[in-house]
Amino acid sequence: MPQQPLSQVPADATWEWQEVGACREADPDLFFHPQNERGLARVRRDRSAKAVCARCSVRVECADYAIRAREPYGVWGGLTEEERERVYLKVAVPQFPRQRGEGAKLAADEIAAAVMPASLGVVS
Ligand code: SF4
Repeated sequence: MPQQPLSQVPADATWEWQEVGACREADPDLFFHPQNERGLARVRRDRSAKAVCARCSVRVECADYAIRAREPYGVWGGLTEEERERVYLKVAVPQFPRQRGEGAKLAADEIAAAVMPASLGVVS
């Protein structure tokens, strides 16, 4: 696993999308794991956060920001830390997406899959 650089706010970052995020009405503890959380507890909390993201109108903007900033913690845009790590492995660090929209483009498949029923634990 490559060393993850510290998160870095992109120069063109904007924040107005956060004003309409569905998580404004949710428990913030859903989105960030407590220390030493493991196993089923973590799966359940992540799925609960993803369920909030699934009904959020700014999910793509949120995921784009988190990927470009390399946010190290939390569920952003429906993507967990581990799911973002897999996105990071797609690119070499010098070419890492920094312009607005590049993160969403790079992770289009992961963003779409993040809130599919299977990711939310819904069995059809
Ligand atoms: S996608 Fe999820 S974390 Fe991002 S603003 Fe919406 S509800 Fe909040």
